[in-house]
Amino acid sequence: MISALPTIPKRARLPDRVSASAAGQLLTGQCRLRLLASRTFPPDARRLPPSIWSMRGDLIHDVIDAVSKNAFMNGKGEWARVQWQGTAEATARHAFALVVAAREAMWRITPERAHWVPLDGLFERLEWKELRREAISRARKYAANREPIIPVRTMRGGAAAAWIPLLPGETRTEAWVRGDKWKLQGKLDHVQLSDRGHLIVRDHKTGAILEEGTDAIKSAYVAQLRAYALMAREVQGLEDADVELWVDGPNECSRSVGGTSAELAAFAAALEEGTRQLELGLEANLESLAAPGHASCAHCGLRHACPSYRAWAPAGWLTDEAEGKWPFPLDVWGRVAKVVSEGEFHRIQLICPDQVVRQVSRVRSTWFAEPPSVDSELFFFGLATSDGPSRGVYRHPKTFNEWDAAPTRRAWSLSVFTGQ
Ligand code: SF4
Repeated sequence: MISALPTIPKRARLPDRVSASAAGQLLTGQCRLRLLASRTFPPDARRLPPSIWSMRGDLIHDVIDAVSKNAFMNGKGEWARVQWQGTAEATARHAFALVVAAREAMWRITPERAHWVPLDGLFERLEWKELRREAISRARKYAANREPIIPVRTMRGGAAAAWIPLLPGETRTEAWVRGDKWKLQGKLDHVQLSDRGHLIVRDHKTGAILEEGTDAIKSAYVAQLRAYALMAREVQGLEDADVELWVDGPNECSRSVGGTSAELAAFAAALEEGTRQLELGLEANLESLAAPGHASCAHCGLRHACPSYRAWAPAGWLTDEAEGKWPFPLDVWGRVAKVVSEGEFHRIQLICPDQVVRQVSRVRSTWFAEPPSVDSELFFFGLATSDGPSRGVYRHPKTFNEWDAAPTRRAWSLSVFTGQ
């Protein structure tokens, strides 16, 4: 069933610290509302479901983590063993199957996610094959015939807890940490204290790690790694030490990021300046923090509640190309012009804010108590389309669907709202 469109409050208190990944993006000018919104979003309103790209990244991450720990979170919220299968490759394959089964078990009993099972049905066949290959080839590097590392939950969901210092030779994965000095918090994918007392931090990325067309690591990732290094040094009592920083990307690409004490001091100064302007911990006008743009909004779970996005997006629907790089979010909204009921589906035509008529086909009738009336307002976020790029250029489509004839192209992450 659908509900009225939520909206973010005009004013709210900002969190008193930022995540390390947000710190990296803040310094590269991304939307500050998105990066700080987790605590300001009204608790009774849901974020949009993850995009297909986030789903892919989370899955690869979970498989690497399961193999690194020899343990994974099963569908009942308990840690379970990943058994050694004789080789690193076989163990990584086994972990992949366990992680997928655990997610499916969890979703099967969640009414609004039950239709996400089976998980491979959310992806095109070739996309799924590539995802599986990437997850297994990344994870096998971390497989070893050893006892499970019992996950040390030093922090959960941003709540503070004391960091237990690493011993020489110890490795920890998915380790929550918070540093008070620079108002940071985050989860380290992989942190190790070498036998000689040297800190090594690794971060796993599932998308490209280089700036497009260059050999340079994305500046947001460099900043994120350095933010991790500042926190790791602080909680280990190793301030002013160099930290070895690595970012692991697709296709077994692993790159070192500078983490000398001089580089970390320069980064700390920039971070201090950037976060000072944010007035962390104080009340702020939230709309003034919004900076709609393709790179930020495409992955943002607040699109439905964000007045700035809703004001900005329709202008982009009219252009031929969404900054030429990535499909625009598949969202559309407007006043209902026509509804055709076809069995268990509706075909809905909308007059959109740019006065163009767009159609959403095969919308499940179970969304509505009764068919939507003409002239009512409807908002669709996370649709699917059969349209591909034309001559390499992606255009915002005029025809969308929820439940396409091709089952792998269905809009499984769709959210529908009425006007406020
Ligand atoms: S939808 Fe765009 S402008 Fe709004 S919070 Fe998200 S990233 Fe920022």
